[in-house]
Amino acid sequence: MKITPHGAAGGEVTGSAYLVDTGRAKILVDCGFFQGGKDADAKNRVAIDGGGSGLDAVLLTHGHLDHTGRLPLLAEGGFRGSVHATPATIEMAGLILNDAVKLQAQDLERHNRKRARAGEPPLAPLYTAEHTERILSQMQPVPYKELVSVAPGIQARFVEAGHMLGSTSIQLLIDEGNGESRSVVFSGDLGPQGAPILRDSEPLRQAQAVFLESTYGDHDHRPFGDTVREFIEILRQATSEGGKVLVPSFAVGRAQVLTMLLAWAFRERILKPFPIFLDSPMAIQAWAIYRRHPELFDEEMNRFLREGSVEQDLATLNATATAEESKKINDVPGPCLIIAGAGMCTGGRILHHFRQNLWKPETHVLIVGYQARESLGRRLIEGEKKVTIHGETVAVKARVHTLGGFSAHAGQRDLLAWFGTLAPCRPRVVLTHGEDEPRRVLAGEIARRHQLDAVLPGLRETVVV
Ligand SMILES: [Zn+2]
Repeated sequence: MKITPHGAAGGEVTGSAYLVDTGRAKILVDCGFFQGGKDADAKNRVAIDGGGSGLDAVLLTHGHLDHTGRLPLLAEGGFRGSVHATPATIEMAGLILNDAVKLQAQDLERHNRKRARAGEPPLAPLYTAEHTERILSQMQPVPYKELVSVAPGIQARFVEAGHMLGSTSIQLLIDEGNGESRSVVFSGDLGPQGAPILRDSEPLRQAQAVFLESTYGDHDHRPFGDTVREFIEILRQATSEGGKVLVPSFAVGRAQVLTMLLAWAFRERILKPFPIFLDSPMAIQAWAIYRRHPELFDEEMNRFLREGSVEQDLATLNATATAEESKKINDVPGPCLIIAGAGMCTGGRILHHFRQNLWKPETHVLIVGYQARESLGRRLIEGEKKVTIHGETVAVKARVHTLGGFSAHAGQRDLLAWFGTLAPCRPRVVLTHGEDEPRRVLAGEIARRHQLDAVLPGLRETVVV
């Protein structure tokens, strides 16, 4: 069997897509967007397996754009099979893809206006809303834990990954034709153990090959409790100084964790309520999806919801749907917290809040998620003193805090613990979804603990299992 990563390989974190070719069938596990780098657009335009018409099925680990963003290209390329995913992932993917196609159209329009002024012909969109709708209509819900048949000779089991609502690891059982089957496991993105809201990832125990993410393979995050204390301390300071707290966050995942933490801090009177702006129409819709899936919450979250009214706790929360409402936040006097996208500060409303506030020393920026190389978020973490936003130079006087403990990705210890239950099978280990250093360090730890040599494939470099 041949497995080829068409993204999230070669030291890259975005663009997850594995082409699995068993000889009898071909499937794709994830079909994500490349994001952040200058060449992302060009990479997204490279067809997977001649466009997708020869694929039997697609399986999704979760709904994030870097795992789903290229799906509409398959519809465009003639793929008419099923896209298997958990019900919550299907809802999340719908929300995220519909938003992405709108953003792409807006970006392209702006880009093409520039091209027209330069006398260049316009670029065609990567795909359209029609392709997005088509691929969404091909989605097929799968239950957690049960074996489902997805293609000739391939069964799949989706189990909790604890990374975002609906997220899973996927175990494939491939019929060898001699009564035997071979198990290949894709970790998907793994969440940290003990993170709030969601259930923890579920261990798997059988695999001949494991494709493991390595985003934070080189270090552990600060413990969650310490991070919460730091978060509360920053908020106390900012509210006493009257500064704004800006949180670039992807609309799904961190935004919900932060609002729940604020609800808890207000309910327990740890903080005095102050204005919060959830400046993202998508985060508002994502919360509605969360509320439809309490079966995916951990016990602590369900108890928190039972014991009080989150709506009452968050009486100072303002969800700003329109761009006009978003701009009015500038006029709000005194301290407030603003959660806005894009999570890696590559676009979206966070940019206009940055332009208005980064140059003020009383402003705080909280980095709560992964920031890809070359992204504005990464430049802020690295301490750049001046950045360019919408063509304007802005001095960075704000205090930038990195709260790694809020990450949706497992740190090294949790990655190794998750792999630990599979290690006794002596599987082939393939590390993907990580930059070179974290991948190399994680490979070293796996070799030291389990005497297993990991493969670190490059982009489109086939692994034979
Ligand atoms: Zn993810």
